[in-house]
Amino acid sequence: MDTQKIMIEGAMHMETELLLEVLADPQEQVVGQWRFVEGKYHDVNLVVAVTSIGMSNAAAATALGIERFRPTAVISQGTAGGHDPALKAYDIVLGRRSFDASSYRSAQEDLVDWRHMELMGSYAYDATMQSFIPQEVYYPGDEKLLAAAQKVAKNYKRGRVIAGCIASCNTWNRQKERLQFLHNQFSSSCEDMEVNSAAQICQQYGIPFLGIRILSNTEFRAEEFQPESAKVCQQFVLAVAEQYEKDRTKD
Ligand code: SAH
Repeated sequence: MDTQKIMIEGAMHMETELLLEVLADPQEQVVGQWRFVEGKYHDVNLVVAVTSIGMSNAAAATALGIERFRPTAVISQGTAGGHDPALKAYDIVLGRRSFDASSYRSAQEDLVDWRHMELMGSYAYDATMQSFIPQEVYYPGDEKLLAAAQKVAKNYKRGRVIAGCIASCNTWNRQKERLQFLHNQFSSSCEDMEVNSAAQICQQYGIPFLGIRILSNTEFRAEEFQPESAKVCQQFVLAVAEQYEKDRTKD
C-alpha cells in the first residue's frame, strides 16, 4: 500500500514539544535553518516542522519541508487569538478557510479610517511575473482533513470545535473594535501568524492542507495567553492525523 506522510507544523517550542515527545524513532534533519523531525505516531508517518513564529518562517519551512520530505498532507497547528466573540480559550477553530489579514488596499481618503479596506489576497507565485492580481483571497482547507478533524471533534472535552475562518498576519491585535470588525466583515474566527502562509504554499504544490488553531486567549473575555492550550491542540492534532490515516486506509 502507498504510504502517507503528514507534516505537522508548529511555530513555538510549546507548540511542538508534545509532538516531538511522542514520535517513535525520531530522525532529525535541519534544512536551511529549519528543523524537521520524522518519526511514527502509532501507525502514522509524521514529520514535525519546527517553523518558528511568523508568516515568512511558515512559508519557508513549508516549502523546504515539502521538497525534502514529500508529505501527502500538511497541518499548521498552534495557538490563536479570538475574533469571534462567542469563542473562548481552549475552543478550537478548524480552518475551513483562511486569509492574509495584512493584504489589503485601503480607501483613498484624507482621514484615516482603517475599516475602509478591501482584502487583496496572498500573492501567489507567478513565474511569468505578468500578473498583479493575487490568486485568491480565501484559501480553503482540505475536505478530507476537515472531515477527519470533525470526527475527532466529537470527543473533544475542553471546549467547542468549529469549522471557521483563520485570519493570518504578523499582527497581534488587542483592539476589540478591530477584532470585531474583522469578524463581521471577513468572517474570521481567530487570528494567528502562520496558517495562510502555509496554505498558500501547499496550494501551489497541490498538497492537502488544514489549519487547526486553539484559542490561547481572547480579548472579548480579557484572557491572557494560556500556554497549556498549545499542548491540548497538539493532542487534538495527533488524533486528527490518526483519523485521517484510518479514513484513507478504509477508502
Ligand atoms: N508568548 C508569546 C505569544 C506567542 S507569539 C507572547 O506572549 O508574546 C505569537 C504566536 O502565537 C504566533 O505563532 C501566532 O500564530 C500565535 N498567536 C496566539 N495568539 C495570537 C494572537 N492573538 N494574535 C496573533 N497571533 C497569535
